[in-house]
Amino acid sequence: MTGGGQRDRETCLAPFYVLAVPLVDQATGEILDRDLVGTLDFVERDADGRLVVVDVKTAARKYSDLQVEASLQLSIYSYATAMNGLADEADLRLRFDVLTTTRQPELHRYWPPRDPAANVRLYRLAAESLAAIETGVFPPRVGWHCQDCPVRSRCWASESP
Ligand code: SF4
Repeated sequence: MTGGGQRDRETCLAPFYVLAVPLVDQATGEILDRDLVGTLDFVERDADGRLVVVDVKTAARKYSDLQVEASLQLSIYSYATAMNGLADEADLRLRFDVLTTTRQPELHRYWPPRDPAANVRLYRLAAESLAAIETGVFPPRVGWHCQDCPVRSRCWASESP
């Protein structure tokens, strides 16, 4: 397991925590006209009483440093958790629990650094994606998630050739 030096006495507070929070540009105060809605895999309280937001993954191999540091997903969780009032963002910790699907499965724990600028990037990405969709520019992103997609029947990328 990675993340040496971290204490492992955590209390699981809630699996599958559902959040819906406004998307606010923290550089300008502008608010998007859609909320950010999502589910956290689970939320823990560590031995020091700090909230830990955990994302659980399976992967063919352990993560690289870049994968951990550049993860937009945990930035989104960090933003949503703070906006929901669950914890002060500065006092929040984030963790990936990654189980490798290797012959001998291994659990790796990663503690990504928090990046306050990620909130501004998140807002801009959401605003630009929404604007693109509303003007009919909607590049499909095919993957495992397509099986649960509510608009799959109208997506050209999901059709068989
Ligand atoms: S079916 Fe199309 S719209 Fe739905 S997730 Fe897949 S690529 Fe995206």
